[in-house]
Amino acid sequence: MDLTNKICIVTGAASGIGLGIATRFAQAGAKVAIADLNLVAAQAAADGLNAARAGSAMAVAMDVTSEDQVNAGTAAVVAQWGTVNVLVSNAGIQIVNPVQDFAYADWKKMLAIHLDGAFLTSKAVMPHMIAQGSGAVILMGSVHSKTASPLKSAYVTAKHGLLGLARTIAREGGQHGVRSNVICPGFVRTPLVDKQIPEQARELGISEDEVVKKVMLGQTVDGEFTSIEDVAEVALLFAAFPTNALTGQSLVVSHGWFME
Ligand code: NAD
Repeated sequence: MDLTNKICIVTGAASGIGLGIATRFAQAGAKVAIADLNLVAAQAAADGLNAARAGSAMAVAMDVTSEDQVNAGTAAVVAQWGTVNVLVSNAGIQIVNPVQDFAYADWKKMLAIHLDGAFLTSKAVMPHMIAQGSGAVILMGSVHSKTASPLKSAYVTAKHGLLGLARTIAREGGQHGVRSNVICPGFVRTPLVDKQIPEQARELGISEDEVVKKVMLGQTVDGEFTSIEDVAEVALLFAAFPTNALTGQSLVVSHGWFME
């Protein structure tokens, strides 16, 4: 799978899964914009990629919940490299709480980052993709796009919603060669997951070891975390796939936690 000279924007790429995808895309020949709330970390990530292959990365300051910042960041990428071929809408956070204790402000923040962020970034890149007659919009879903777990009402709701957005973009984009797909990872050991382990242990009244072994990995076929590299390979497949045959889909990569 080759992305030579493809212009890619990956949101939330200063850390975790997004950084892994940006790294894999750069290895496949892409030019990658590391778009993140945390500009210092985004710049460090871009510097790391440029050290391996000069000119392969740029850092972009972007809060995906701000239409102005999304549009300005996208414009900066287009000014630097001319267009956008691939978007990975990946920025995300997690907040866990039972519904009755879930602060309304936290609910709105979760939907804003996951859903508004995916919508605003898709909206910003689509004119460029339509103009060139091709493009790939990849949304970062989750196993929680397909099923639910306790304490995660906002996350589950948002991740289910992304399936609808991707399918709509696939329908609207088809005639322009714009494809849209969703990646649905199981648990991946990133800062987002590390933060949840003690929180879930507290809420569920079990040990941190039980959270990992039972709640997170209990339903996998082998008790293994999904790796950042596993998710990055799926992102590369969706980014580089050459035709509209693969669009409007969601692919679960979870060591068999969820099967369909
Ligand atoms: P992470 O915490 O390692 O990285 C998230 C990145 O997003 C950070 O760099 C952060 O600065 C950035 N970010 C947060 N809010 C932002 C905003 N408003 N605008 C721009 N950037 C913002 O998390 P991760 O585990 O790599 O998660 C990445 C994505 O993968 C998320 O959408 C998450 O829901 C999804 N996901 C993660 C897992 C997992 O187990 N880690 C599983 C399934 C899906």
